[in-house]
Amino acid sequence: MEVIKVVPRGYCKGVVRAIRMAIQCAKDYPHQRITILGMLVHNQYVIEALKAYRIETLEDPHRSREELLDDISEGVVIFTAHGISDQARYKAQRKGLICVDASCPDVLKTRQILQEQLQQGNEIIYIGKANHPEAEAICSLSDHIHFMSVGDVIPEIASASIFVTNQTTMSQFELQPLFDQIQAQYPNAQFSEEICSATRFRQKAVAQLKGQGIDCLYVVGDRSSNNSHRLAQIGKAIHIPRVYLIDDVNDIKAEQLKDVKRVAVTAGASTPSYLSDQVITYLEGYDAKKERPIIHTDQLLKGIL
Ligand code: SF4
Repeated sequence: MEVIKVVPRGYCKGVVRAIRMAIQCAKDYPHQRITILGMLVHNQYVIEALKAYRIETLEDPHRSREELLDDISEGVVIFTAHGISDQARYKAQRKGLICVDASCPDVLKTRQILQEQLQQGNEIIYIGKANHPEAEAICSLSDHIHFMSVGDVIPEIASASIFVTNQTTMSQFELQPLFDQIQAQYPNAQFSEEICSATRFRQKAVAQLKGQGIDCLYVVGDRSSNNSHRLAQIGKAIHIPRVYLIDDVNDIKAEQLKDVKRVAVTAGASTPSYLSDQVITYLEGYDAKKERPIIHTDQLLKGIL
């Protein structure tokens, strides 16, 4: 079985920066309680690995970041790479918490563009994933931002000045048809596609597998990771017969690899390279009877520190 290692894959610069900032925080505040508001990056293994640095994560998908702050009464609070609403930031400051902002510069760039458009009096259509923290932070900026996700009806807006943009981890393959539909409804709308370069390059690398006789694609990534889901979606769109989103090597099953001659491996932007390298090594020496390698959580942040 031939194993194709998709490049680029795994950690993006925003994730590396956020993890480095969190670990630096543990060094800077050795006597403070440190809490991340939501998942620093969407990968459960990273969240577990950070506990070794006394860094706890407060997450509840049914509560906003602002609401989660009710459970933090002291110490340092870290805002994640996905960005933070002004309301949550001010609330943390009012509570006297030490605030560390790990928002990704690419997310902040989109936010800056939107603020400029709002100042010009434009109505905004923002395309993203419902209940995602990045979309939550952006939509909190103004009532003039109209959120839509894939499959939603295009918002009815009674204005001639409409600006359309998107969450940074959207798939370029599903975004363009949406832009086309919106343009048909609002011919004078302005568009700014804001998929970040890390997401774009990882998606393009998967799309380039088309026509290469790939029988199976493994996307190593957490189920909560939007960009990992998008990579799997692209694999299906280019008709790779079997596409699996897996957390780690333990999710590989013998029936998935039956009669497979060429298998490709990629990883979401929040997946530690340790996990995807382990999958590649396992597949390269594949033997259904062989024991799975053990995942050493203390190795997960290797390559970042
Ligand atoms: S996926 Fe893009 S926007 Fe998100 S943290 Fe990485 S570089 Fe930043």
